[in-house]
Amino acid sequence: MSTNEEMQLIEAVREFAENNLNDPEYLEKFSPEMWEKIADFGLLGITVDEKYGGLGESYRTAAAVFENLGYSCKNNGFVFVVNNHIWVSQNLIYLYGSEQLKDKYLCDMTAGKRIGAICITEAESGSDALSMVTRAEKTDDGYILNGSKAFISNGPIADIFIVFARTGEGNNKSFTAFVVEKEFPGVKIGADIEKMGLGSCPTSEIVFDNCMIPKENVLGRYNFGSLIMTMALEWERCFEFVPHIGAMRRVMERCIEHVRSRQQFGRPIGDYQAVSHKIADMKVGIEMSRAMLDRIVDLKDNMKTAFIDTSIFKLYVSEAYIKTCRDAMQIFGGYGYTKEYDIERELRDALACSIYSGTNEMQKNTIYNFTTNGESL
Ligand SMILES: Cc1cc2nc3c(=O)[nH]c(=O)nc-3n(C[C@H](O)[C@H](O)[C@H](O)COP(=O)(O)OP(=O)(O)OC[C@H]3O[C@@H](n4cnc5c(N)ncnc54)[C@H](O)[C@@H]3O)c2cc1C
Repeated sequence: MSTNEEMQLIEAVREFAENNLNDPEYLEKFSPEMWEKIADFGLLGITVDEKYGGLGESYRTAAAVFENLGYSCKNNGFVFVVNNHIWVSQNLIYLYGSEQLKDKYLCDMTAGKRIGAICITEAESGSDALSMVTRAEKTDDGYILNGSKAFISNGPIADIFIVFARTGEGNNKSFTAFVVEKEFPGVKIGADIEKMGLGSCPTSEIVFDNCMIPKENVLGRYNFGSLIMTMALEWERCFEFVPHIGAMRRVMERCIEHVRSRQQFGRPIGDYQAVSHKIADMKVGIEMSRAMLDRIVDLKDNMKTAFIDTSIFKLYVSEAYIKTCRDAMQIFGGYGYTKEYDIERELRDALACSIYSGTNEMQKNTIYNFTTNGESL
């Protein structure tokens, strides 16, 4: 895609999002109508081959588009739904699935007819994901899955789950990734869990009670689930955080408007360095995030690994995004604390990002281990 075409696509996405994805009625609950609209617009299959109903765009273009989606769609929860569907469900089937799995699921997913989710976390295994106890036993016809997964974003609305389960025998702790349909016998979807933010992205527990999985629904290879999980987290730590750069831009612009118009002591509050420096920090956060993203999309478009880069990116963007929203509330003073100004929702939504995709403490562990093992960036 030429730069000009990319600019046109970005412009179209911004206009579409501004006009169709900002219904105030759906800021705290999922909107099936908005989902239908974004599917019709064609965004769900942005990097997927046209053969499966996608647009076949590069990761660089996808990143530019998703930064702008995050900017123009202030419904952060809805963007999170879209991200979970694309990057850690559909994308995994597209990149690591067999031809059979791709034929079975991708067209429906790019068309938005089936929504995706990823199931890693369990009640007793969060950061220590590899200690999961959900287990799949091999049978003649396929696999029988037992266990339950916690905090599953899109859980109540999803049709397709990428589920990680232990499959190694005896002391072998190997596990496998499976594609599980909501309709498979033994799948039970929990009720929507109320959260502090991201209200328009439903979340639930998913229980697998003697769930029957056909043989062909192994994603990647049997007992190679850790590889798929590593790749999934890499995609998640990059692309789920790209829209946050756009959200930071949106919040920063609101702050700029406010510090220019709000007067105290006879002057715009932006004249006070304690206020203006907060906006300078926001700008630095946005530009540094973009610089890191530039390197990552280059690696991903060349199908290279970006594990440590995405870990650093996730850590940096989430800290910058939370600080931006926290500073925005301070800049807006008492008004920022009211529901009317919608800054408090931005902050509530932002706070989750230091937890999902692996907590920021876990990212620091990864970065430390990588650095002290003598690997160079
Ligand atoms: C909004 C949201 C959406 C989510 N969506 C999904 C989803 O779609 N699918 C899914 O599978 N999961 C999902 N999760 C779950 C998420 O991945 C986990 O919450 C996360 O990995 C942390 O696990 P935990 O909550 O059990 O916390 P714990 O692992 O219990 O951690 C608690 C605290 O201890 C710290 N800690 C733990 N171990 C260490 C260590 N070794 N070193 C330093 N600090 C440590 C953590 O950083 C954290 O601060 C979601 C979570 C949220 C909040």
